[in-house]
Amino acid sequence: MTSGVAGETPMARRKLIAGNWKMHGRSADLVWAERLSGLLGRAPGSEILVFPPATLRAPMASRVPGFVAVGGQDCAAETEGARTGDISASMLADLGARYVITGHSERRRLHGESDGLVRAKSEAALKAGLTPVICVGETLDQRKAGEAEAVVLRQVFASVPEAAAGRVIIAYEPVWAIGTGLHASPEDADRMHRAIREAWRSGDGDQLRILYGGSVNPGNAAGLLSREHIDGALVGGASLDPDSFAAIIRAGG
Ligand code: PEP
Repeated sequence: MTSGVAGETPMARRKLIAGNWKMHGRSADLVWAERLSGLLGRAPGSEILVFPPATLRAPMASRVPGFVAVGGQDCAAETEGARTGDISASMLADLGARYVITGHSERRRLHGESDGLVRAKSEAALKAGLTPVICVGETLDQRKAGEAEAVVLRQVFASVPEAAAGRVIIAYEPVWAIGTGLHASPEDADRMHRAIREAWRSGDGDQLRILYGGSVNPGNAAGLLSREHIDGALVGGASLDPDSFAAIIRAGG
Protein backbone atom coordinates (compact mmCIF):
# COMPACT_ATOMS: atom_id res chain seq x y z
CA MET A 1 0.00 0.00 0.00
CA THR A 2 1.58 3.21 -1.12
CA SER A 3 -1.20 5.77 -0.95
CA GLY A 4 -0.86 9.00 1.01
CA VAL A 5 -2.54 9.81 4.30
CA ALA A 6 -6.32 10.10 3.92
CA GLY A 7 -7.44 13.69 3.42
CA GLU A 8 -3.96 14.97 2.56
CA THR A 9 -2.84 15.64 -0.98
CA PRO A 10 0.95 15.64 -1.26
CA MET A 11 2.34 18.73 -2.99
CA ALA A 12 3.50 16.49 -5.81
CA ARG A 13 -0.16 15.69 -6.48
CA ARG A 14 -1.45 19.18 -7.11
CA LYS A 15 -4.76 18.91 -8.93
CA LEU A 16 -4.66 19.14 -12.71
CA ILE A 17 -7.61 20.03 -14.92
CA ALA A 18 -7.03 19.29 -18.60
CA GLY A 19 -9.24 20.02 -21.60
CA ASN A 20 -9.11 17.74 -24.63
CA TRP A 21 -10.62 19.47 -27.67
CA LYS A 22 -10.30 16.34 -29.83
CA MET A 23 -10.93 17.19 -33.53
CA HIS A 24 -12.82 20.40 -32.76
CA GLY A 25 -11.91 24.04 -33.20
CA ARG A 26 -11.18 26.59 -35.90
CA SER A 27 -9.15 29.79 -35.60
CA ALA A 28 -12.30 31.73 -34.65
CA ASP A 29 -12.61 29.49 -31.57
CA LEU A 30 -9.31 30.75 -30.14
CA VAL A 31 -11.29 33.51 -28.46
CA TRP A 32 -11.81 30.72 -25.88
CA ALA A 33 -8.39 31.66 -24.45
CA GLU A 34 -9.34 35.24 -23.57
CA ARG A 35 -12.77 34.18 -22.30
CA LEU A 36 -11.25 31.58 -19.99
CA SER A 37 -8.69 34.08 -18.78
CA GLY A 38 -11.45 36.63 -18.04
CA LEU A 39 -13.51 34.04 -16.18
CA LEU A 40 -10.64 32.79 -14.02
CA GLY A 41 -8.92 36.09 -13.37
CA ARG A 42 -5.77 34.94 -11.66
CA ALA A 43 -4.06 31.55 -11.54
CA PRO A 44 -6.29 28.95 -9.82
CA GLY A 45 -5.04 26.42 -7.27
CA SER A 46 -5.06 23.65 -9.88
CA GLU A 47 -2.70 23.25 -12.78
CA ILE A 48 -4.51 23.92 -16.09
CA LEU A 49 -3.81 22.25 -19.37
CA VAL A 50 -5.46 22.34 -22.79
CA PHE A 51 -4.98 19.97 -25.71
CA PRO A 52 -6.25 21.72 -28.87
CA PRO A 53 -5.96 20.08 -32.30
CA ALA A 54 -2.44 20.31 -33.75
CA THR A 55 -3.53 23.11 -36.11
CA LEU A 56 -4.35 25.40 -33.16
CA ARG A 57 -1.54 24.45 -30.77
CA ALA A 58 0.82 27.35 -31.52
CA PRO A 59 -1.78 30.16 -31.75
CA MET A 60 -3.49 28.83 -28.63
CA ALA A 61 -0.17 28.89 -26.76
CA SER A 62 0.30 32.54 -27.64
CA ARG A 63 -3.18 33.51 -26.38
CA VAL A 64 -3.71 31.60 -23.13
CA PRO A 65 -2.58 33.12 -19.85
CA GLY A 66 0.81 31.95 -18.58
CA PHE A 67 -0.73 29.53 -16.09
CA VAL A 68 -2.36 27.44 -18.84
CA ALA A 69 -0.10 24.89 -20.53
CA VAL A 70 -0.86 23.74 -24.08
CA GLY A 71 -0.14 20.14 -25.01
CA GLY A 72 -0.41 17.75 -27.95
CA GLN A 73 -3.22 15.20 -28.41
CA ASP A 74 -0.91 12.48 -29.73
CA CYS A 75 2.65 11.89 -30.87
CA ALA A 76 4.48 9.37 -33.00
CA ALA A 77 6.72 6.74 -31.44
CA GLU A 78 9.50 7.79 -33.82
CA THR A 79 11.51 11.01 -33.73
CA GLU A 80 11.35 11.77 -37.47
CA GLY A 81 11.14 10.06 -40.83
CA ALA A 82 8.86 9.17 -43.72
CA ARG A 83 5.61 9.21 -41.71
CA THR A 84 3.20 11.52 -43.51
CA GLY A 85 0.80 13.24 -41.16
CA ASP A 86 2.56 12.21 -37.96
CA ILE A 87 3.99 14.60 -35.39
CA SER A 88 6.86 13.54 -33.14
CA ALA A 89 7.20 14.28 -29.45
CA SER A 90 10.36 16.26 -30.07
CA MET A 91 8.47 18.46 -32.58
CA LEU A 92 5.91 19.21 -29.87
CA ALA A 93 8.68 19.94 -27.39
CA ASP A 94 10.32 22.21 -29.96
CA LEU A 95 7.16 24.34 -29.96
CA GLY A 96 7.18 24.60 -26.17
CA ALA A 97 4.74 21.78 -25.29
CA ARG A 98 5.34 19.97 -22.01
CA TYR A 99 2.53 17.41 -22.14
CA VAL A 100 1.08 15.00 -24.67
CA ILE A 101 -1.88 12.61 -24.48
CA THR A 102 -1.10 9.00 -25.41
CA GLY A 103 -3.42 6.01 -25.67
CA HIS A 104 -6.72 7.88 -25.74
CA SER A 105 -9.44 5.27 -26.24
CA GLU A 106 -10.47 6.96 -29.49
CA ARG A 107 -6.97 6.35 -30.87
CA ARG A 108 -6.91 2.80 -29.50
CA ARG A 109 -10.27 2.08 -31.14
CA LEU A 110 -10.22 4.16 -34.35
CA HIS A 111 -6.51 3.83 -35.14
CA GLY A 112 -5.94 0.35 -33.73
CA GLU A 113 -3.32 1.51 -31.24
CA SER A 114 -2.09 -1.35 -29.05
CA ASP A 115 -0.72 -1.15 -25.51
CA GLY A 116 2.74 -1.69 -27.00
CA LEU A 117 2.40 1.27 -29.35
CA VAL A 118 1.01 3.45 -26.56
CA ARG A 119 4.01 2.51 -24.46
CA ALA A 120 6.42 3.34 -27.33
CA LYS A 121 4.74 6.72 -27.85
CA SER A 122 4.90 7.42 -24.11
CA GLU A 123 8.59 6.49 -24.06
CA ALA A 124 9.20 8.84 -27.00
CA ALA A 125 7.42 11.59 -25.08
CA LEU A 126 9.61 11.03 -22.02
CA LYS A 127 12.73 11.03 -24.17
CA ALA A 128 11.68 14.39 -25.65
CA GLY A 129 11.21 15.80 -22.15
CA LEU A 130 7.39 15.73 -22.28
CA THR A 131 5.05 14.33 -19.66
CA PRO A 132 2.75 11.77 -21.28
CA VAL A 133 -0.86 11.71 -20.09
CA ILE A 134 -1.49 8.00 -20.66
CA CYS A 135 -5.13 6.94 -20.97
CA VAL A 136 -6.55 3.62 -19.81
CA GLY A 137 -10.10 2.41 -19.26
CA GLU A 138 -12.46 -0.51 -19.58
CA THR A 139 -15.39 -0.98 -21.98
CA LEU A 140 -18.95 -1.43 -20.78
CA ASP A 141 -18.84 -5.17 -21.56
CA GLN A 142 -15.67 -5.56 -19.51
CA ARG A 143 -17.25 -3.65 -16.60
CA LYS A 144 -20.42 -5.77 -16.79
CA ALA A 145 -18.27 -8.91 -16.73
CA GLY A 146 -16.62 -7.72 -13.50
CA GLU A 147 -13.26 -7.32 -15.27
CA ALA A 148 -12.84 -3.55 -15.04
CA GLU A 149 -10.00 -3.49 -12.54
CA ALA A 150 -8.09 -6.37 -14.11
CA VAL A 151 -8.38 -4.78 -17.58
CA VAL A 152 -7.26 -1.36 -16.38
CA LEU A 153 -4.30 -2.69 -14.39
CA ARG A 154 -3.26 -4.80 -17.36
CA GLN A 155 -3.34 -1.68 -19.56
CA VAL A 156 -1.31 0.26 -17.01
CA PHE A 157 1.36 -2.43 -16.88
CA ALA A 158 1.50 -2.74 -20.67
CA SER A 159 1.11 0.92 -21.72
CA VAL A 160 3.01 2.88 -19.10
CA PRO A 161 6.83 2.96 -19.31
CA GLU A 162 8.92 2.24 -16.24
CA ALA A 163 9.45 5.76 -14.92
CA ALA A 164 9.34 7.72 -11.72
CA ALA A 165 5.75 8.51 -10.79
CA GLY A 166 6.33 12.24 -11.21
CA ARG A 167 7.26 11.85 -14.88
CA VAL A 168 3.98 10.41 -16.14
CA ILE A 169 0.28 11.07 -15.61
CA ILE A 170 -2.38 8.40 -15.94
CA ALA A 171 -5.92 9.24 -17.02
CA TYR A 172 -8.53 6.67 -16.02
CA GLU A 173 -11.20 7.06 -18.68
CA PRO A 174 -13.84 4.32 -18.73
CA VAL A 175 -14.67 3.96 -22.42
CA TRP A 176 -18.41 3.79 -21.70
CA ALA A 177 -18.25 7.21 -20.05
CA ILE A 178 -16.48 9.13 -22.82
CA GLY A 179 -18.83 11.48 -24.62
CA THR A 180 -21.90 9.58 -23.42
CA GLY A 181 -23.11 11.75 -20.54
CA LEU A 182 -22.56 8.76 -18.23
CA HIS A 183 -19.79 8.98 -15.67
CA ALA A 184 -18.25 6.73 -13.07
CA SER A 185 -19.50 7.46 -9.56
CA PRO A 186 -16.92 9.28 -7.42
CA GLU A 187 -16.69 6.10 -5.26
CA ASP A 188 -16.06 3.79 -8.23
CA ALA A 189 -13.55 6.15 -9.83
CA ASP A 190 -11.73 6.66 -6.53
CA ARG A 191 -11.55 2.89 -6.00
CA MET A 192 -10.03 2.40 -9.45
CA HIS A 193 -7.53 5.20 -8.93
CA ARG A 194 -6.51 3.70 -5.61
CA ALA A 195 -6.05 0.29 -7.23
CA ILE A 196 -3.80 1.85 -9.89
CA ARG A 197 -1.80 3.70 -7.23
CA GLU A 198 -1.37 0.58 -5.13
CA ALA A 199 -0.28 -1.47 -8.13
CA TRP A 200 2.34 1.11 -9.15
CA ARG A 201 5.60 -0.80 -9.09
CA SER A 202 8.26 1.82 -8.35
CA GLY A 203 7.15 2.31 -4.74
CA ASP A 204 6.32 5.99 -5.29
CA GLY A 205 2.64 5.53 -6.11
CA ASP A 206 1.70 8.28 -3.65
CA GLN A 207 3.24 10.76 -6.11
CA LEU A 208 1.49 9.38 -9.20
CA ARG A 209 -1.12 11.79 -10.56
CA ILE A 210 -4.23 10.01 -11.80
CA LEU A 211 -6.89 12.01 -13.63
CA TYR A 212 -10.49 10.89 -14.16
CA GLY A 213 -12.06 11.39 -17.57
CA GLY A 214 -15.50 10.56 -18.93
CA SER A 215 -18.34 13.11 -19.17
CA VAL A 216 -16.96 15.40 -16.48
CA ASN A 217 -19.12 18.53 -16.32
CA PRO A 218 -19.77 21.42 -13.92
CA GLY A 219 -22.46 19.35 -12.17
CA ASN A 220 -20.37 16.29 -11.31
CA ALA A 221 -16.85 17.77 -11.07
CA ALA A 222 -16.85 18.71 -7.39
CA GLY A 223 -17.96 15.23 -6.30
CA LEU A 224 -15.27 13.55 -8.36
CA LEU A 225 -12.48 16.00 -7.57
CA SER A 226 -13.07 15.86 -3.83
CA ARG A 227 -11.99 12.20 -3.67
CA GLU A 228 -8.61 11.38 -2.20
CA HIS A 229 -7.23 9.46 -5.17
CA ILE A 230 -8.68 11.63 -7.97
CA ASP A 231 -5.96 14.15 -8.79
CA GLY A 232 -7.75 15.99 -11.55
CA ALA A 233 -9.87 15.61 -14.65
CA LEU A 234 -9.39 15.09 -18.36
CA VAL A 235 -12.38 16.88 -19.83
CA GLY A 236 -13.56 16.45 -23.41
CA GLY A 237 -16.84 18.04 -24.53
CA ALA A 238 -17.24 20.39 -21.55
CA SER A 239 -13.80 21.90 -22.11
CA LEU A 240 -14.93 23.50 -25.38
CA ASP A 241 -17.16 25.92 -23.53
CA PRO A 242 -15.06 28.34 -21.43
CA ASP A 243 -17.87 28.81 -18.89
CA SER A 244 -18.13 25.05 -18.27
CA PHE A 245 -14.37 24.56 -18.22
CA ALA A 246 -13.92 27.46 -15.78
CA ALA A 247 -16.64 25.98 -13.53
CA ILE A 248 -14.86 22.61 -13.52
CA ILE A 249 -11.56 24.32 -12.71
CA ARG A 250 -13.22 26.14 -9.80
CA ALA A 251 -14.61 22.81 -8.56
CA GLY A 252 -11.00 21.60 -8.32
CA GLY A 253 -10.28 24.29 -5.72
C1 PEP B 1 -12.04 12.75 -23.37
O1 PEP B 1 -12.05 13.15 -24.53
O2 PEP B 1 -10.97 12.35 -22.88
C2 PEP B 1 -13.27 12.75 -22.60
C3 PEP B 1 -13.26 12.31 -21.38
O3 PEP B 1 -14.40 13.24 -23.24
P1 PEP B 1 -15.80 13.67 -22.55
O4 PEP B 1 -15.46 14.54 -21.35
O5 PEP B 1 -16.52 14.41 -23.60
O6 PEP B 1 -16.47 12.43 -22.10
